[in-house]
Amino acid sequence: THTIPQKNIAIMGATGSIGDSTLSVVSQHPDLYNVVGVTGFSRLDKLLSICQQFEPSYVCVAKEKETSFAQMLSDAHLSCKILIGEQGLAELATLAEVDMVVAAIVGAAGLPSTLAAANAGKTILLANKEALVMAGELMIKAVKQSNAKLLPIDSEHNAIFQCLPTAVQQQRNTIHDDNHGIKKLWLTASGGPFLYKTLDDMKRASIAEAVKHPNWSMGQKISVDSATMMNKGLELIEASFLFDMPVSEIEVVIHPQSIVHSMVEYNDGSFLAQLGSPDMRTPIAHAMAYPNRISSGVERLDIFKLSNLNFVQPDLEKFKCLGLAYQAMQQGSYACIALNASNEIAVQAFLNGDIRLTDIADINEKVLLQAEKQPIGSLQAILAVDKLSREQAHQCIADLNA
Ligand code: NAD
Ligand code: MG
Repeated sequence: THTIPQKNIAIMGATGSIGDSTLSVVSQHPDLYNVVGVTGFSRLDKLLSICQQFEPSYVCVAKEKETSFAQMLSDAHLSCKILIGEQGLAELATLAEVDMVVAAIVGAAGLPSTLAAANAGKTILLANKEALVMAGELMIKAVKQSNAKLLPIDSEHNAIFQCLPTAVQQQRNTIHDDNHGIKKLWLTASGGPFLYKTLDDMKRASIAEAVKHPNWSMGQKISVDSATMMNKGLELIEASFLFDMPVSEIEVVIHPQSIVHSMVEYNDGSFLAQLGSPDMRTPIAHAMAYPNRISSGVERLDIFKLSNLNFVQPDLEKFKCLGLAYQAMQQGSYACIALNASNEIAVQAFLNGDIRLTDIADINEKVLLQAEKQPIGSLQAILAVDKLSREQAHQCIADLNA
């Protein structure tokens, strides 16, 4: 047997939920993966314990945290180099010694470093779906030009990736040129905590009820997105860019058990699906080892217990955010940026207790209506639309509370 060379990995957003799952897989394969760098935004204690366990050469923190974290590192007799702020994130993601970048920062904050990794030709393990929603065209172009690899770890996209022909897996973005007999992509959705509740229940939902996902344990933002099904909307846009499929050929189906993680439908009538326990370590391990396979520590799926798998159509009146994503994608990139920005502000406002859960969709709809058609050719253009849309969302929130 030949030995597989060790991969150097940078984990952006190491202190989050995807960060946890990634570090869990890494710790099971110390011979295969070496953590070169980690980043964390708020939980410094957690970031420090990660540094103690994995001894990365680099750690990136926010500018305001530099001094206190430097002190914590020195108290712990650790000598990793501190990188700072957004520039530090991009520096880490493009270091010559880094092979793989796990993009697991939440929201627009993850875009610049993910784009930098794409431009630098890295293998990107993408969790940060917002980066593709905001900058799908730019990201895919950068990946192609620099020969980077973009491997999805969002469970649905990873499932679709696994069900695609090898030729499509290895040459990004080829479905459109030669469809390989692919008819449709099917994104499964759990339906979140309000699937069996009414819109009135959703109106009255507490923060705790909204972030309590039935099957997955995740960060706060994506948990709220799952409750409104904005998450599936963002994933629809993500899938369209990743696999070069128009949204008209991507279907969303609610599958409350979260066992089938998504499907690819072929012209001959075949549906290929990937199944597994709802645990992010499976898609992460898949992407980390691709095209090989490694163990992930995930609880084995007990096939004999799967007596009941359901598939139902989503209710677009209750889950308005999903419809908004189809609409934004039809309008163009500028609208996707606006929708994502508005949603980030609205979700934060909900988590702050300033608005109701159902206000999120209304705010997103209003901001989407205000979005002005324009060509998007650069990161600056993206960030300008993002900024304006955030201001408009703040204004909508102020109007609601006036
Ligand atoms: P999380 O909130 O648990 O972690 C987010 C990470 O980003 C943390 O390390 C945090 O320190 C960092 N961060 C937050 N704001 C930052 C900023 N302004 N600048 C720099 N770093 C910042 O979130 P998560 O659930 O791990 O999700 C991360 C990403 O992965 C999201 O885009 C989410 O949609 C995607 N994703 C998550 C899951 C999941 O199961 N958790 C599944 C699929 C996709
Ligand atoms: Mg997902």
